[in-house]
Amino acid sequence: MTRIVQAGKLSNGHWNGSVSANDTTLDLASIAETLDDYYVVVNPKAKTRCIDGRHDPGLNEAELGPQVPGGATGAALAYRLGVDRDDLTRGTFLSDFESMLNNYLRLGLTPGGHRDNGDHADGGVGCGAIDSVAKVLECISEPRLVEDSKRLTRAILAEDFVRDDYLRVLGASVVLGAHANDYFAQNNELLPLLEEKAPGSVSTLTGTHNEKLVIVNFVPGTTFASNRFADSHNGMQAFGYDVWRSKELAALLLPQDSEYIDRWRFITARVMITIATLMALTDGSLQVVFRLPIDV
Ligand SMILES: [Zn+2]
Repeated sequence: MTRIVQAGKLSNGHWNGSVSANDTTLDLASIAETLDDYYVVVNPKAKTRCIDGRHDPGLNEAELGPQVPGGATGAALAYRLGVDRDDLTRGTFLSDFESMLNNYLRLGLTPGGHRDNGDHADGGVGCGAIDSVAKVLECISEPRLVEDSKRLTRAILAEDFVRDDYLRVLGASVVLGAHANDYFAQNNELLPLLEEKAPGSVSTLTGTHNEKLVIVNFVPGTTFASNRFADSHNGMQAFGYDVWRSKELAALLLPQDSEYIDRWRFITARVMITIATLMALTDGSLQVVFRLPIDV
């Protein structure tokens, strides 16, 4: 049993990206009515997917992995911003990613990432969460976007929102952002490293972005059949974020954290990065839908 909640537009303001729903009138009521038909049980062995709604020709409908921005790379940034006790001015995204990748493999999780088949002559991106990660980091603390960021983080975390954690991640993003050139210098080595450590884990998405809504999925163990949804909605896509997965990963990464201090910091950072990724990719006009579990 699930409950679909329409949460309105991402923002009344104008975000930094080009993906837009301003050209569309969505029949959200009928989308909400059948949304559960497009959710399936995750296959634990299937590779982690990005929130990107574009077509993945390699996707096996019977073996879908959970969706989080950037696949496994985003977890590395969340750990750096929310949990890591290291000096924020040292280290690189590549080494943070390698550590996170080793965690995934140690825990028996299947990492994943993606490129696309575009030539990007138009300045477009492959995986926005990886190729534009420096812009994503900037969005977290961009003054005109902070209110949206805080409102949406609070909406997703609900009673688990901790203001101090939010401010801590916000501050960490500013400190790290001041060293972004060094921190992100080796980013073109991320996907080759992923491919080397987990062969077959890098997908190549096709087509153009046509996401009109963002679905935040709270129902543990389920994920969005993105190809099938687009096929049966005239090519309209949706960003899917399996927030339950961030919570599950926090528990796996931080098993001794019985007070949930670091776990909630990790989850808060992960949610903030997801919102910032949408700020970098979209103009803020997309509709937001929450898919919540109902206890029966
Ligand atoms: Zn992506």
